[in-house]
Amino acid sequence: MAFKEIAVIGAGGIAGLASIFELLHVDNNGTSTIGKGRAQDPAFTKIVGFEQKGDVGGVWNVEGYKTDSELSSQDILDTEHYNDVNTLRPKHKLQPSFDKLINTSVDNWVETEKDESYLQWKGSAVYPRLYTNTPEFSLRYSTMEKANDRVKDLDPFLTHQALHQRLQTFADQNDLKQNIRFNSEVVKADKIDGKWRLLIRVEKDAKDYWYTEFFDAVIVSQGFFSVPFIPLIKGLSEYNKRYPGAILHSKSYRDPQRFKDKKVVILGGNISTIDIGQYLAPVAKEVIISRNTSKSAPAPWMDRCVQSFPNVSRIKEFLPDTKEIVLQSGHRLQNVDNVILATGYHVKSPIFDDDVLEYSIPSGQDSATSRSRARNNYLHTFNIEDPSIAFVGRLVVQAACRNAEAEAAAIAGVWSGYSKLPSKEEQYEWELQKIISAGGEEYFHWEDFYTVKETFYDVIKQYYPKDRPDPIGNELDDFKDYEYSLNSFERLFNDFKNGKIEVDHEF
Ligand SMILES: Cc1cc2nc3c(=O)[nH]c(=O)nc-3n(C[C@H](O)[C@H](O)[C@H](O)COP(=O)(O)OP(=O)(O)OC[C@H]3O[C@@H](n4cnc5c(N)ncnc54)[C@H](O)[C@@H]3O)c2cc1C
Repeated sequence: MAFKEIAVIGAGGIAGLASIFELLHVDNNGTSTIGKGRAQDPAFTKIVGFEQKGDVGGVWNVEGYKTDSELSSQDILDTEHYNDVNTLRPKHKLQPSFDKLINTSVDNWVETEKDESYLQWKGSAVYPRLYTNTPEFSLRYSTMEKANDRVKDLDPFLTHQALHQRLQTFADQNDLKQNIRFNSEVVKADKIDGKWRLLIRVEKDAKDYWYTEFFDAVIVSQGFFSVPFIPLIKGLSEYNKRYPGAILHSKSYRDPQRFKDKKVVILGGNISTIDIGQYLAPVAKEVIISRNTSKSAPAPWMDRCVQSFPNVSRIKEFLPDTKEIVLQSGHRLQNVDNVILATGYHVKSPIFDDDVLEYSIPSGQDSATSRSRARNNYLHTFNIEDPSIAFVGRLVVQAACRNAEAEAAAIAGVWSGYSKLPSKEEQYEWELQKIISAGGEEYFHWEDFYTVKETFYDVIKQYYPKDRPDPIGNELDDFKDYEYSLNSFERLFNDFKNGKIEVDHEF
């Protein structure tokens, strides 16, 4: 198997940049040229990254901290199907059909007016003063020099600005932007006669421009923090109508001062809850966490952080008439000023038909969210049924840059024709064993930090191009010392929560 013309969908984030870099550094004979410059006789003859934002950075490119809709429009909430990704992110009303786009290209497009109601959800969830929750070495590609961008009081974490700067530096130093088309959203991807046909919408001036383009293979590196998951809750829509601004998704959280002296309920119980909770605690009147109290958080340190707030069961219903919130336990909460839905994100990309990229749905939910498993998946990366589509950025282990490198390297090795994937049966066997070892579907894409070298890096490396340097490099000791970052995270959490560090403190 060998592919020549590759599209990278979602090119500006950690995963997309790693993918473009990797593809540019493989010679036609399957040898990696990393450390020696770009491949002179490249394995891949066309590499195009599509990025809907105006620059690189992915979620770390905050674009002035612009928010999307805080919840979605009222007419969408009124459908009572707002938990469905296709309802929350409806099609662009003026999207031309494929028939109208025959013979179009990047230089020859079809123009339409903008659809002002189009909810693209491309704003970032990153807010002022957010710092990373994973250590600095995990957020540096192995080919990058160590940077002097660490802040003593945040060690080993980075400010979000520093991480964005790293991604800019990586893109600039390796001239990656010349392979990226910015302001270009991939709206649809389907397969015609063995080729991937992409429908692209370009935002320019006050118009939209549409064209199609064909590729042999596609990398999906769109990230998983874009379209918020809003759980279907009785009364939510009416409550929002009566008390606009009272309910918001954590994606639009920006400033703790908005919640000064307010009684706030955060629905969730995972990392966004902890992050936001630590800033609200010193300024809000009261912060309550509403969550599935029969389940613990994915790690003991997270549990300790969550349990340091008053915990109640999940929200069952909003009562607009009395401005009350009914909990699953039957108890009612009164005088709540704000509810923040830290309920995660949809993982399913509307670009692909459901049978192309299938997802399992977590138990107790009706939509595929960040905790869903991509089906037919080998090593978090390859699609077992169709090897011309692969993920970069799906694996969750706290080493975003290194994971992306490993995934992209394996794809480059296989797609250049140098490495061969095992039989479908063997790939499905890996998938089955992973479901078993992960204890089910929810944590399928998670690997344990302490064992990830053995369970993932040492397995996937057999598919790398020839001579591809190890993405962990000589920093395995840092990987093994993950305990240090967990302790630091908890220390910072407590310092913010207890007012030892001012919530408005700029690092
Ligand atoms: C608030 C927050 C805090 C986080 N903190 C951490 C942390 O501390 N450490 C950590 O490791 N991870 C953290 N994460 C996870 C974070 O997503 C990863 O760090 C990393 O940024 C993922 O990179 P990515 O390239 O996979 O996705 P993204 O950064 O989301 O990049 C995807 C890119 O694809 C583009 N795109 C999407 N759809 C399309 C389309 N249809 N057409 C064209 N372009 C498209 C997007 O515009 C975006 O630029 C955090 C996430 C959030 C939301």
